[in-house]
Amino acid sequence: MKYSELAEVYRQLSSTTKRLEKTEHVAEFLKKVHADETEEVVLLLQGRIFPAWDERELGVAAQLMAKAISLASGNEISSIKKEWKKTGDLGDVAENLIKGKKQHTLASSELTVKKVFSNLRKLAEESGGGSVDRKLQLIAELLSSSKGNEAKYITRTILGVLRVGLGEGTLRDSIVWANFMKVTDDMDKEKREKYNSFVDAVQEAYDLTNDFAVVAKISKEKGVKGLKSVQIKIGKPIKVMLALKTENATEAFETVGKPASVEFKYDGFRLEIEKDEKGNITLFTRRLDNVVEQFPDVVEHVKKHVKGDSFILDAEAVGYDRKTMKYLPFQNISQRIKRKYDIDKIAKELPVEVNVFDILAYNGKNLLNEPFKKRREIIEKIVDDVKRKIRPAEAIVTDKEEKIEEFFKKAREAGNEGLMIKNLEAPYKPGARVGYMLKFKKVAENLDLVVVEAEWGEGKRSKWLSSYNLACRKYGKLLEVGKVATGLKEKPEEGLSFDEMTQMLKPLIVEEHGKHVKVKPKIILEVGYEEIQKSPSYSSGYALRFPRVIRNRTSEKNVNNINTLKDVEKLYEQQKK
Ligand code: AMP
Repeated sequence: MKYSELAEVYRQLSSTTKRLEKTEHVAEFLKKVHADETEEVVLLLQGRIFPAWDERELGVAAQLMAKAISLASGNEISSIKKEWKKTGDLGDVAENLIKGKKQHTLASSELTVKKVFSNLRKLAEESGGGSVDRKLQLIAELLSSSKGNEAKYITRTILGVLRVGLGEGTLRDSIVWANFMKVTDDMDKEKREKYNSFVDAVQEAYDLTNDFAVVAKISKEKGVKGLKSVQIKIGKPIKVMLALKTENATEAFETVGKPASVEFKYDGFRLEIEKDEKGNITLFTRRLDNVVEQFPDVVEHVKKHVKGDSFILDAEAVGYDRKTMKYLPFQNISQRIKRKYDIDKIAKELPVEVNVFDILAYNGKNLLNEPFKKRREIIEKIVDDVKRKIRPAEAIVTDKEEKIEEFFKKAREAGNEGLMIKNLEAPYKPGARVGYMLKFKKVAENLDLVVVEAEWGEGKRSKWLSSYNLACRKYGKLLEVGKVATGLKEKPEEGLSFDEMTQMLKPLIVEEHGKHVKVKPKIILEVGYEEIQKSPSYSSGYALRFPRVIRNRTSEKNVNNINTLKDVEKLYEQQKK
C-alpha cells in the first residue's frame, strides 16, 4: 500500500471533528488494507510504531528531526529553525520545504507504508556509536522520497505528535464497521443489539491484548470467532478493571448488591503481577509500564509468598514508614516507580506492602468470568498473609450499612484513602468501569489532567518551567481547563519540584514561542482546586479556581484515562447543588 493513501486518511481525520465521519473514513480505508499490512497500518493510524504496552521508543528529539529536514530538503539548518520559530510546528516546516524542493531532485519511487514502517522501526533499534548519524539517514531517506503532506505526517509520527484526533472509541468502531456491520439511522432493536455485540467483541479483545493492530488483523482474518478465542497471555499486560465512585453506603449496596465485599482502599499504586510457567515475574503499572526492575523487593515477596506455577494478580503496593510501620501517602514513595539507580537502597528506605485484591488467571486457567467471591477464595488460598510484605487486601463481607461506616473509620485510621466496595458475583472486566467495584473516599474530587503547555518562570524561577496549562479530554481531543503554578516545591527533597517538572517537560517540547512552550501531552498531574467556574478563556469552557498540584500521576495514568470534559461538567453541576 502506498503511504499517500494513509496520508489521505490523516488529512480526512484532521478535517472533521465529527466522530461518525471519522469512523466512516477509517472504516472505508481499513476495508481496502490487505490483511498482511493491517497491523502496520493500524499502528500508524494511531501515530504509533509499537503497541502502547511496548516500551521501545524511537528516540528522536526535535533537534535531530530538524537536521533530517535540512538534509532532505537541502535547506540550511538555520533556515529550518527560523521557519520552525515562525510556524511552531516541525511537521508544517517539513511539508513546506519538501514541497518547495526542486522537482528533479525528488526520488522517483513512491513511498509505501511498509517502507515507512520499516525505517521507523529501525530508528528504535539504533543505539551506540554512530547511531545518531544512522538515524538521520533513515529519516532523511523517507523525507527525500516523500511528497509535502507525507513529510508532514512522517515528521509528526516520529515526534509522537500526530494529533489527527483518532480516539480509541472511534478506532474500535471503525474496526467494527469495516469487518462486521455499520451503524445506520434505521437500525431496529435487534440490529442494534447485534451491532453492540460486535462492538463488545472488539473491545474485549482489545482489553486483553492492548493492541488494536492485533485486533484489527484478527477481525479481518478470523471474524468474531477469532476475537472470542483471544486468550490472556502471561507476560503481556492486560488493562485493569476500573472503579466507579459512590457517595454513600446505601447507594453502594444499590449498585453492587448485598452482601458486598468491602476492602481497604490503599493509597499506593496499582501493580499487575504476572508469573509465567517458567517462573519469570513481570510487574506492570496501571499504565501498563513494566516496572519489574524497580521492585526487586516485590519480586522476592511474590516468589516466597504466593503459591502457583503461573498467575496474574491485581494488587496495590502501598508505602510504609520503616520506623512506625504506618502507611504513607502515595507521594512519599512515587519516586520508586521511575528510579533507575540505587534501587536496592531505595527499596530498603521506602519499602512497600503488596495488597492483593484480585486474580485474573491461575495455573493456566482464565478466571475473568469467575465470580469475584471465587477469585477472592483463590487469593486467600495462594497468597500468604505476611504483614508489610504481601497479603490479601484487608476485607470484610457485609450487608449492613453500619458495618461499612465502621470499616471506613478503621481504614482511615490505618492511613488508607477509604474503601472499595465490590460485587461478589461480578466477573473481571479488563479496562472497564462497569460498577463492579466502587470507591468510597468522602473527599472533594481532584482532577487528573495532562500538561499541554508551560511557561518559563521569572527571576529566580527563570531556569524552570514554572506554570503549566492543563487539559482534560473529550474523545481524542484535549481541552484546556486552566493553568497551575502552585503546589510545587523549590527544593526537590520537599516533594514534586519545579526542577523535576522541568526535567520531565523539556524533552517533550514541540513548539516554543518566547517564554511559552507547547509540550507533548504526557505529564499527568492530580490537581486540587477551590471551585470550577465557567470560563471563555479556555477551550473546555471551564476554569479551575485556585488550582494546586497534588501529585504527579504520570507513572500511573496516560492521556487516555485522564478526566474528561464530562467529569468536569458533572463536578461543576454537583457544586452548584
Ligand atoms: P482511583 O485511582 O481513585 O480511581 O481509585 C481506584 C484505584 O484504587 C485502583 O486503580 C487501585 O490502584 C486502588 N486500590 C487501592 N485499594 C484497592 C482495592 N482494595 N481494590 C481495588 N483497587 C484498589
